[in-house]
Amino acid sequence: MSTNEFIVIRCPRCGKWTYAKSRQKTRFCSRCEKRFKINPIQVIYATSHQHANLLVKMKNEEEMHK
Ligand SMILES: [Zn+2]
Repeated sequence: MSTNEFIVIRCPRCGKWTYAKSRQKTRFCSRCEKRFKINPIQVIYATSHQHANLLVKMKNEEEMHK
């Protein structure tokens, strides 16, 4: 079983969190409908699809309370 297969990333335009496969270089943002480059410094590594999903939920909720 591989670890750190997924990454959790933030859209640089609108700030929405989403996840991708760790090998991906770009990600399409569903909110601003634009593709952005994944900055490897700003990613959070997740060990599974479920973990990535949970992190995205948590991060997006954090954003709403700011
Ligand atoms: Zn966006």
